Order: sequence, then structure tokens, then C-alpha cells
Amino acid sequence: MSTTILVVEDEPAIQELISVNLSFAGHKVLRAFDAEQAQALIRAELPDLILLDWMLPGASGITLARSLRSDERTRNVPLIMLTAKGSEHDKVEGLEAGADDYITKPFSPKELVARIKAVLRRRAPQLTEDIVEIGTLRLDPATHRVSGAGQALSLGPTEFRLLHFFMTHTERVFSRAQLLDKVWGDHVFVEERTVDVHIRRLRKALEPTGHDVHIETVRGAGYRFAAQPQV
Ligand code: CA
Repeated sequence: MSTTILVVEDEPAIQELISVNLSFAGHKVLRAFDAEQAQALIRAELPDLILLDWMLPGASGITLARSLRSDERTRNVPLIMLTAKGSEHDKVEGLEAGADDYITKPFSPKELVARIKAVLRRRAPQLTEDIVEIGTLRLDPATHRVSGAGQALSLGPTEFRLLHFFMTHTERVFSRAQLLDKVWGDHVFVEERTVDVHIRRLRKALEPTGHDVHIETVRGAGYRFAAQPQV
């Protein structure tokens, strides 16, 4: 799955270098030169991760980081701070402002891509291409294949994303609204009962190998993927 990354960097050469490398690594890249541009882009499309330079003209990166963290919509977007500063004090300030990681300039593109992958793995594992296996159920994001006990299962694109999200967030109960937000994306206006339709399709797709029992309905709350379902 292509991940959308917003790069907020005022130095054109660095912004270009980062963007080229991220595109090459398979990400979709949005670019901003300052906090104001970044906010406008975020309003239009919520990125999956934000790379944020500390020193920006106008509002600083740290100010933007704080405002992103205080806004319900952007609170959970993974955030990596980029900076020339390397002191312990600045690092602490960055992390306190809500950054998930901190990269000191100069950095190699290879390191940047690796750090992004690590943050996504921790904060949004459904966006990585890592194979997920739970019991005998196996999902491969790179090839878009799902199998149960070695038998191939056929899933539609939405059911695939739903299952990927569930398998990377087991045991937790998600409301329909939360699933819409996480799987369909924000700014997508669909009715909550759409979730029920796709849950039904997902269960049906998993039925041939009996893995539909993983998807549990929690009355009055939503749905949960149980790693070890009670049958
Ligand atoms: Ca800068």
C-alpha cells in the first residue's frame, strides 16, 4: 500500500532530496515549505506520516508539532522531526512536543527511509509491507495474498485492508466510526452500516478455512479481531 508522507522543509535542495528518495521507496509525497502550507495540505488530505523540519520560516516546526498534537484529527499522525540541532535538550523538547522520532541533519537517505519504516511499523503497522501471520492465517501486503492453513482465500480490496488492519491491531474493539477512519480514511463520507456490509463479506471470504471466527462482534461497541477466538 502506498503511504502518503508530508515533507515540511524550507530548504529546496533538502526537500527535493528527501522527496525523490521517498518516492523511490514507494511513498506518495506531499511537500510544504512552511507550517502554513503544511496546514493547508493537511486540511485537504491527512498524511500517513509527517517529516517536519525544526527550523522553518514563520511558525517553527516545534510549534506546528504541538498544534498537530492538540488537534483531534491530527493527534495520531506519526511525526518525525528533522533538525540540524543535536543537543540532548532539543531532542527532549522535540519528543515532548509529540514527535515519534528525531533525525539529525545531515542524514543519509537510507537512514531516513529506515527510520520511517520503523516508526510506521510501531505506529501504523497496517501501512507496512510486512507479512502478518496469526495462527494459520497469513496475509502478505506485497502480493495482496491471503491464505488460511496454506489454502488461498479470495478477498476484495476493502476486505483485504480491513483484515490487514485487524491483524495488526488484534484484541482491541473498534467502533464502526473508528474502522471507517482507519480503513477507509478520513474525509471519506460513507455510512457506518457500510462497515457491517464489509465485515459480512470478510467473514464469508474467511469461511472456507474457518478463520471467520476471528472476527468477533462486540455488542454495542463494534468489532474485534481475536487472535485466539473462543469457539
Ligand atoms: Ca530549515
